Amino acid sequence: MRYSRQVVFEKIGSKGQELLKKSKVTILGLGAIGTRTAELLTRAGVGSLTLIDRDIVELSNLQRQTLFIEEDLNKSKSLTALKHLKKINSQVKIKAVFKDINPKNINFLKGDLILDCTDNMETRFLLNEHCLKNNIPWIFSSIIGSSGMVFNIVPTKTPCFNCIFNKPEEVLGTCDTEGIINTTASLVSSLQVTEAFKMLTQQPYLKNLTYFDLWKNKIEKIKVKKLQNCQTCKNNFTYLNEESSDDLIKICGNNSYQLRGRALKLQEVAKRLKKLDKVILNSDCLIFKELTMFPDGRALIKASSPERAKSLYTKYIGN
Ligand SMILES: [Zn+2]
Repeated sequence: MRYSRQVVFEKIGSKGQELLKKSKVTILGLGAIGTRTAELLTRAGVGSLTLIDRDIVELSNLQRQTLFIEEDLNKSKSLTALKHLKKINSQVKIKAVFKDINPKNINFLKGDLILDCTDNMETRFLLNEHCLKNNIPWIFSSIIGSSGMVFNIVPTKTPCFNCIFNKPEEVLGTCDTEGIINTTASLVSSLQVTEAFKMLTQQPYLKNLTYFDLWKNKIEKIKVKKLQNCQTCKNNFTYLNEESSDDLIKICGNNSYQLRGRALKLQEVAKRLKKLDKVILNSDCLIFKELTMFPDGRALIKASSPERAKSLYTKYIGN
C-alpha cells in the first residue's frame, strides 16, 4: 500500500492519513523550497495542491530546484511541476497557476494551509495580510547561503509576519548576492512540510521560529512575541489595500524588473522580433535578448535600472 510506512508512523496513523487526504494546500513559489515541498506533499498523499509561480525554469535553477530537468528550460515552473508531480502521484488533485500574485488577484488564494516558498518580502507581507483577513494558517520559510528559517503563522494564535519582521532588507539578503547551497533548501523544506503534517492532522505545531546554519551545524529555536500595537494584527492592512500596485517591480536580487503590460499574441510579437535577432518561443513564454514575455502581458526584463527596463520594453514591444 502506497502510504503504509507513513501510516505505521504513530504520529500520523490511519486517522492522520485520512486527514491528509482531505486537505487542500497551496504552495506559493516553486523555487528551491517550493519544488521540494510540493514533491514531499504529493508523495505523502495530500488531497489537493495548488501550485503558483510566475517564472520559467532557467539553467541556474537546476542546481537546487529538484523537480526540474534540462528539458524543462524556458518552460513555466508551475505547469512543469504539475506535469512531473502527476507522474509521481496521480491521486493528488493538482492545479497550476502561472501568474504573479499581487493585491488585485490574491483573493483566489485559499486552502487549509498556504506554504510560503517565495523569495521576496513584499509578497510575504501581502500574504500575511491576506491570511489574517481570511483566517488561513501559513508557514513562512526562507533560505540564503547555508542558513534558513521556518515559522508557523496561525491567525490570532501566533504572532503574525509583521510582528516579527519590520525591516526586511536588513534581515535577509538574496540568493543572487549571497549564493545558496542546495542542501539548505532540503532542510527548510523538511522542516516546513513536517509542520504542515502537524497542522493538517490537527496536532500541536511549533510556536518558535526555527533558525539554522547548516554549514556550522547549528539549529536554534527563537522565541517570538506578538508586537504590541501591530497594525496588521489590528486588521489595518496596507499591502492588500494598495490602490494600484506598481506596474514595474524589482525582482529579488538578479537585476530584473517585472513590468505588467497588455496581453499580447506572442507568436505575432515573435514574428516581428525575429527580424532583429534570435527569438525563443514556446507555449509558456517568448525570450528575446534581455526580455522574457508571458501570454498574460507580463514581461521580465534584465536591466540595471527601472528606467532602462522600461526603455527596453518600449524599444522592442512598444508602449
Ligand atoms: Zn502582527
